[in-house]
Amino acid sequence: MENEIGVLYIVATPIGNLDDITLRAINVLEKVDLIAAEDTRHSLKLLNHLKISKPLISYHRHNEETKTDVLIKELKMGKNIALVSDAGTPGISDPGEEIIRRCIEENIKLVPIPGACAMVNALICSGLDTTEFTFIGFLPLNKKNRNKKLEEIENTNKTIILYEAPHKIKSTLQDLKPFLKNRKIVLARELTKIHEEFIRGNIDEIIDKSENIKGEIVLIIEKDCDIKQENIFDNLTLEDHYKLYEEQGFSKKEIIKKIAKDKNVNKNEIYKKFI
Ligand code: SAM
Repeated sequence: MENEIGVLYIVATPIGNLDDITLRAINVLEKVDLIAAEDTRHSLKLLNHLKISKPLISYHRHNEETKTDVLIKELKMGKNIALVSDAGTPGISDPGEEIIRRCIEENIKLVPIPGACAMVNALICSGLDTTEFTFIGFLPLNKKNRNKKLEEIENTNKTIILYEAPHKIKSTLQDLKPFLKNRKIVLARELTKIHEEFIRGNIDEIIDKSENIKGEIVLIIEKDCDIKQENIFDNLTLEDHYKLYEEQGFSKKEIIKKIAKDKNVNKNEIYKKFI
């Protein structure tokens, strides 16, 4: 009889506090045949803490391509596999993309097992706008690409989230300085750990406060409130705007209300233009 194809579970693990693992993640780690880990020694500590003993296979940036082939073979032979990274959610500034793409190509079932992710937890306590945000991860190291990204950051009206290694945070803040005006910044440090803290201020204040900063850091930047969001309706004449909704069957009253909302003005203002 042919083997059933296995499942790849993408399992989020703690970003510091080992209690931040879900019951479902534990169940999955207990039941899979194999765990693919970014650093097997690192994941072994978590597995020992959970009293789980499983075969581990290393899966990191430098062997992603070859190990993807190995894992796909195992999955096709019916093995269930859990993919974990050193911390947090695999695929978020961590390996994972390659095998996930291949599983989709090969019709192998993927199951996400949600859990900790540094950027989400930093964002929710940042006090900055959470409705729309751009996650950049690590800034590119290549100078040209880095400058391009910094310009993008300068010109965005969305909250920006960056990851940075502690020994590089000072130079990254210096690189960001010319692009940020007085935008608020939050450094979320050592999330879920004993020395967890949120450092807030503008770029100069943050540079001062981060003199001897240690530990893991997420950097969140306030959106540039001076940049007006492009409004697709600004290019429509009032008549065309009206016609657009009329064709969709809305009543005159509804149309006026909708146009006012699209243009972010009082509906009486629009009403007056139609009489
Ligand atoms: N996959 C992970 C996730 O879901 O957040 C991110 C992995 S990435 C290689 C590591 C970076 O995430 C660190 O350099 C830091 O910027 C951020 N990070 C991870 N754990 C953190 C923590 N406990 N506190 C603050 N930042 C953390």
